[in-house]
Amino acid sequence: MLKVTNLHAGYGRMPILHGVDLAVPAGEITLVLGPNGAGKSTLLRSIGGFIRPTEGKVSLDGKDITGRAPDRMVSEGLRLVLDGHRVFPQLSVRDNLRLGVADRSEDYAARLGDVFGVFPVLEERLDQAASSLSGGQQQMLALAQAFLARPRVLLVDEPSLGIAQMLVPTILNFLRSWADKGTAVLLVEQRIDIAVPFADSVSVLRGGKIALSGPASDFTDVGEIERVYLEGAD
Ligand code: ADP
Ligand code: MG
Repeated sequence: MLKVTNLHAGYGRMPILHGVDLAVPAGEITLVLGPNGAGKSTLLRSIGGFIRPTEGKVSLDGKDITGRAPDRMVSEGLRLVLDGHRVFPQLSVRDNLRLGVADRSEDYAARLGDVFGVFPVLEERLDQAASSLSGGQQQMLALAQAFLARPRVLLVDEPSLGIAQMLVPTILNFLRSWADKGTAVLLVEQRIDIAVPFADSVSVLRGGKIALSGPASDFTDVGEIERVYLEGAD
């Protein structure tokens, strides 16, 4: 499990996170909700090694990995899928899928089959440039690429952003089945309604702190989350 304790981080001298505590267990989707500017991306970047925390700790299965460089985080089994579905636009879908997968054992073919089962469009477009895909399809490709690398922990930044709304459940279901196979998934979203039904636990980030958290079953009425959002509004 991924554990974040009293995490402080920011940009230059500007502090953004003020002591975030979070547990991301294997086999679960841990959802962090928060309004725009709450610090969600900063949280993922500081867990993933792109920003060095100024205080606090990130540990994976009890091992302290705070402040490691992103490539070291990847070798520890931690994988970050950034917002804006970053894929290599000039490369084909096939080459994008191959990237970053060092070990293409027999398991790779089975996992590729899993990916094509969920996102058949990727199989249909294997030889096309990634730039020819829609935003939602690029998001699928970015997630598929991460899935094939078999991370123990997956961090996903707002996968619903900028994609056709009908694709959102497909993507969240993919994350759900991934977690069900034992991966620890930390999912960040801005929109309250869409992701809660797929999550095991929910935390609300506001002003760089966790303002509210609990099991997802506590949040079937999202009114409480909305109130926390509004309290944080300027
Ligand atoms: P969220 O992802 O929840 O919308 P962010 O983590 O992107 O929030 O941003 C939190 C705060 O940090 C915002 O005030 C934003 O302006 C600031 N911020 C984000 N990225 C940078 C950066 N690269 N340099 C300076 N400030 C930043
Ligand atoms: Mg963000």
